[in-house]
Amino acid sequence: MICVALGRGRHRHMIAEHRHLVEQGAELVELRLDYIDGPVSLKRLLADRPGPVIVTCRRQADGGRWTGSEADRQLLLRQAIVDGVEYIDLEEDIAGSVPRFGKTQRIVSLHDFRRTPENLETLHARMCGLNPDIVKLATMANHPSDNFRMLKLIQASKIPTAGMCMGDIGAPSRVLCGKFGAPFTYATFSLERVLAPGQLSFQQMTEVYHYNQLNAESAVYGVMADPVGHSLSPQLHNAALQQAGINAVYVPFRVPAPDLDGFLANVPEYGIRGLSVTIPHKESVLKHLTKIDGAVKAVGAANTLIFDGAEILGFNTDYRAAMDSLEQAVGMEADGPNKLKGRTALILGAGGAAKAIAAGLKRREANVVVTGRTLARAQQLAERTDCKAIEWHARHNVAADILVNCTPVGMHPNVDESPFDKRELKPSMVVFDTVYNPENTLLVKDARSRSCTIVTGVEMFVRQAALQFQLFTGKETSPELLREVLKRAIGPARY
Ligand code: NAP
Repeated sequence: MICVALGRGRHRHMIAEHRHLVEQGAELVELRLDYIDGPVSLKRLLADRPGPVIVTCRRQADGGRWTGSEADRQLLLRQAIVDGVEYIDLEEDIAGSVPRFGKTQRIVSLHDFRRTPENLETLHARMCGLNPDIVKLATMANHPSDNFRMLKLIQASKIPTAGMCMGDIGAPSRVLCGKFGAPFTYATFSLERVLAPGQLSFQQMTEVYHYNQLNAESAVYGVMADPVGHSLSPQLHNAALQQAGINAVYVPFRVPAPDLDGFLANVPEYGIRGLSVTIPHKESVLKHLTKIDGAVKAVGAANTLIFDGAEILGFNTDYRAAMDSLEQAVGMEADGPNKLKGRTALILGAGGAAKAIAAGLKRREANVVVTGRTLARAQQLAERTDCKAIEWHARHNVAADILVNCTPVGMHPNVDESPFDKRELKPSMVVFDTVYNPENTLLVKDARSRSCTIVTGVEMFVRQAALQFQLFTGKETSPELLREVLKRAIGPARY
């Protein structure tokens, strides 16, 4: 079950949002009385309510907005109980002095906006002694392992525990708590009105994560990155899992670089079967892998991990996706002649994507030239892949048949930038822009207007996700579905 927290200044807005949510299928809402401007009328909020509610009136010290006296606050909470609300939220320090009455279920809560305390179990045990029906714990995650500690606690608890970690590191716990046995999770009405750090919206919970379908058997997949909030992979992979009818969820794990080792050590215990890997872990993850495929070896980076017992298998689907996209653009057939052989490819950028594409092109016997704004990085790549590095300012002097942009130049919001002068584009060129948000970058538009053959970053992104999905689940997914989801996520105007 998903509980949607409502915090509005006016009674009528809170009532209208409650009605709207019930129409959308919400089964429980939390009325945050501390958000109401002026005197609170419980009568107005509770009369004719369309569904069950949790009544909460949070003090400022606990992240709320209540400015009245503590006596008035507790009076409101007691009145809500007398009025027969379905649930009342009582902070642990007052729960002992507010008696149980009628059918109202007691949620005994604790918030820590700074950390997930080391003595989480002790705190939980103390709260279990305060006659709760449900224990609620919301603590700030400073490390990915905080999520795991919270989930373990939920799973072991005899009293239903709505436990979640706050902040973007804590976001996975808000979804995974469903698998580990939480009675409900909290979501917000919309992302514009987040009431606690890291909260997801009701729409994300239902339409992206399908929270209500999660159970103890659900497999877990995810993307491991830092930052991770911008990643569109959860939308693509969850849509593909849904379509395939697989009992699994794919969540964003923000893993800061120093936490990588600790995070991977926790993986098997929490049912994680596969991970997408992106910045900054694609290379640092290699030392943890027990087996790697040829692409990982060639590139020196992995973007996909599969956990199989004690084994961690590493793959690089960027490599194959980029090569498949390019081969299709030049009209290569699987067993036909290698049309990339002998062609000159100029790669802009010298990061992870450039590495994968340089290695692939080199293997297909193209002449690869790499350039980057930091020459030393381009030189390093060139040395590794046995190709040529040139200065950034000399990029227009190369007679390139294939131009690949592996820099973020042109990416949203800097959509008016291009890494290559339009006047230097020739109709005979294949222009591949790996940037996928937007799909029609300025470089792509320029290349189109110069009649070049075009490969977009969307093509590559969809292919790498489809390959990952196959590695994760052993099943194929439809590229059309992924393309459609991506289109919706990016927004038609930018796509
Ligand atoms: P990365 O490892 O951070 O490398 C980025 C490269 O771009 C570096 O060489 C960097 O130079 C250079 N760069 C950054 N800003 C620049 C600027 N303003 N002017 C010139 N060069 C600049 O990143 P990555 O993982 O390779 O990703 C690069 C791009 O590829 C991203 O935009 C991403 O959208 C795209 N990508 C797409 C897919 C897909 O599936 N379509 C997959 C992976 C990546 P310095 O070394 O000087 O910082």
